[in-house]
Amino acid sequence: MSDSAKRRVVVLGSTGSIGTSTLEVAARLPGQIEIVALAANGSVARLAEQVRATGVRDVAICDASKEAELRALLPEGTRIHSGPEGLLEVATLAGADIVLVAIVGTAGLHPALAAIEAGKDLAVASKEILVMAGEVVTSAARRRGVRILPVDSEHNAIFQCLDGRGNADEVARLILTASGGPFRMWSAERLERVTPEEALCHPTWQMGPKVTIDSATLFNKGLEMIEARWLFDIGMDRIDVVVHPQSIVHSMVEFVDGSVLAQLSRPDMAFPIQYALTWPRRCRGGLLPLDFAAMGALEFEAPCHDVFPALGLARRAGNAGGTMPAVFNAANEVAVDAFRAGGIPFPGIWRCVRAVMDLHDVRPSSSLDAVVGADAWARSAAEAWVANHRIG
Ligand code: MG
Repeated sequence: MSDSAKRRVVVLGSTGSIGTSTLEVAARLPGQIEIVALAANGSVARLAEQVRATGVRDVAICDASKEAELRALLPEGTRIHSGPEGLLEVATLAGADIVLVAIVGTAGLHPALAAIEAGKDLAVASKEILVMAGEVVTSAARRRGVRILPVDSEHNAIFQCLDGRGNADEVARLILTASGGPFRMWSAERLERVTPEEALCHPTWQMGPKVTIDSATLFNKGLEMIEARWLFDIGMDRIDVVVHPQSIVHSMVEFVDGSVLAQLSRPDMAFPIQYALTWPRRCRGGLLPLDFAAMGALEFEAPCHDVFPALGLARRAGNAGGTMPAVFNAANEVAVDAFRAGGIPFPGIWRCVRAVMDLHDVRPSSSLDAVVGADAWARSAAEAWVANHRIG
């Protein structure tokens, strides 16, 4: 990659929250970022609007049954790539430099690996990819000599604080900040009665529904602990979490000399998206800096592990290694869906994940087949647990 060149970006998951912010960032930096392809699951009208706004010639629609509907809305000459194959085609598009993966859940895994094999840098917003297949993805990236740039705000903050230092001997700890979610001070008893509507209201971040629920359970932070383990090649014992309700400090690195570096900004995903896509440069994108005098106090506190067991389960999954993180992630996805559908209570999410982890025989995670197999096993085990614990 040359420093002067514009980055040519493929956006997988363009109609979601991160994808939408990415297109806004790119529109403010036309000299630095060019969007060359878009992909979405099935939001046809939104996707067609984005194709017209960005002028891309290549677009993928994962739900192949919507191809004709999409074609009717697109300018003549737009190439439509449909189905899961279509996602792989745009992920490996000739001339693209970087593929931003912002597909909810694990559906981004195959396109991410295809992009790496095609020599593209990866900007990762879908943390599930690294949680499930961190070993496969990071070893493929090393082999192909491509970069994995973190879009998740916490990991982007750590990436900024490390500033290219690969020397793990100088790093004492990575400290991830967590907002604590909407139920930070709530009792275990009150959590039994949390509704999906309550869990979908996040105090500081505007995000998609899956990650918003994960923020309320703290599973999001648990997934991020494992994501950090792979992105920064560091042991789980050196990854900690501190609750910071204002979401201004996005994470910190403690060095062996006792100094701590932190990255701060307003809680807006445009900051980490822009840094990932313009790295190693910093560009004027019109984002407002902090006003410290107007900001008031920044608070920090220890997470409440008794009431929110997700962090402990994540540490257990990360320490067990192998296929256990894939199981942790897949069981959580099933449990979140069941909670959103009214099938299980809010604490049922961690009960389900714990029960599925208890049943799992850990295998090595060096092959894609092993992690995909563990993911499928965990989904059916979680569905069985949900069926046995359904409300009413
Ligand atoms: Mg995050």
